[in-house]
Amino acid sequence: MDALLRRWRIFFPDATNCINLCRKQQQHCRFYHEKKKRLLLSQHFLSMNLREDKLVSQETKMGEMTCKSQRLMLLGGLICPASPGCYHYMPYTVRAMEKLIKVIDREMQVIGGHKVNMPTLCSAKLWRASGRWELMGKELLRLADRHGQEYCLGPTHEEAITDLIASQGLLSYRELPLLLYQITRKFRDEPKPRFGLLRGREFYMKDMYSFDISEEAAYNTYALVCSAYCNIFNSLNLRFVKVQAATGSIGGTMSHEFQLPADIGEDKLMTCTNCDFSVNVELINADQRCCSVCKGELVETKGIEVGHTFFLGTKYSSVFNATFQTSQGKPALAEMGCYGLGVTRILAASIEVLSTEDAIRWPSLIAPYQVCFIPPKKGSKEEEATVLLEGLYDCVAEAVPQLKEDIVLDDRIHLTIGKRLKDVKKLGYPYVIIGGKAALDDPSLFEVWNQNTGENLFLTREAIIDLLSKVPAC
Ligand SMILES: [Zn+2]
Repeated sequence: MDALLRRWRIFFPDATNCINLCRKQQQHCRFYHEKKKRLLLSQHFLSMNLREDKLVSQETKMGEMTCKSQRLMLLGGLICPASPGCYHYMPYTVRAMEKLIKVIDREMQVIGGHKVNMPTLCSAKLWRASGRWELMGKELLRLADRHGQEYCLGPTHEEAITDLIASQGLLSYRELPLLLYQITRKFRDEPKPRFGLLRGREFYMKDMYSFDISEEAAYNTYALVCSAYCNIFNSLNLRFVKVQAATGSIGGTMSHEFQLPADIGEDKLMTCTNCDFSVNVELINADQRCCSVCKGELVETKGIEVGHTFFLGTKYSSVFNATFQTSQGKPALAEMGCYGLGVTRILAASIEVLSTEDAIRWPSLIAPYQVCFIPPKKGSKEEEATVLLEGLYDCVAEAVPQLKEDIVLDDRIHLTIGKRLKDVKKLGYPYVIIGGKAALDDPSLFEVWNQNTGENLFLTREAIIDLLSKVPAC
């Protein structure tokens, strides 16, 4: 600690007295404490491109870009390419992801889900037993350890979880339904990774697995998980469709996809204009134009798949002998379901559907930060407004405690307000508050940009606090 202080003193010689004063008297000190407690944009690690003059090297990579979310996330320094289909998630993206995980955790736990964390290295033995070692083909990333034991990097964990449950001995029917889920990195050897986080080779997924005593009970659990998914997308204010889908390599007898309608979506859906029926074109005849529920007209849309649910029955429990004891004391195979949510894909897909061409918009609830305060440029005519805007920042931090960790001061006052406004649009703060000329009026008025609606208002300090206290915290 002392070494750190010594180094700090070299950079900030004026602060030495201040630290001594604080240590001795433990009292209020502007220089040390106040600067410390504000979150300053200049202190954020924002990758290279937001820092001036570095856009050129990023331009060279622009040729590879294929969609809006990828372009915006690269421009804002929210992700950095590592290798094909693999990205570094930068701090703002990690913040958004952690908030999204909170939202997901909440909904999974409401329906009785228990969080686990399974190994990424999945034994080939289990995958051979289910027949998927061969079935998955080149999509599976395979490797061997020094003893020649084969593994894959898990793209999904039906084998692992069913084997885990089987290893626990006979469960009692009283312990079911059992819902286990995890939020971990998954791997898929995509032939052509593209669209940034939308189709990568390494990504985060929430995968849940359910075990029930009967087919009927398993259908109830399936419906429960689907309703939790609806709650998640609704709380993010994302328009979605629940679509009947093919079961693919996971298998089972019933499956639904949760799709965000978008032009760049890789799935083709047929949606009824009359009722809420939707189906993936994979499931129907090319010439089918009529809804199988109400005979209404089906129209084609494209969607980004962000969730997928499967009714598995005993497909995996029969392979691994995952059984429970019935109320009559007899062993029976558990009826299973599995349920995926693409965590990183939801981040990118929501940026894709919400953003404009030059401004990132996150779902408000999970935006990395909620508010950015922009004081006037140093040496400008409005410079006196700086103190007023900083005062407003402190006021908001105190009066709206749930936002305290979610507000940022753009202290790069060597730049014009216009330049900084352009930068902050690349990061997606739902609210931007500017201290300009009107802040010097009596009463002070601050310019408030609602980035998600494009609305621009001049508000007093009280009105701003009132507005921000209604912002839902994650
Ligand atoms: Zn219909």
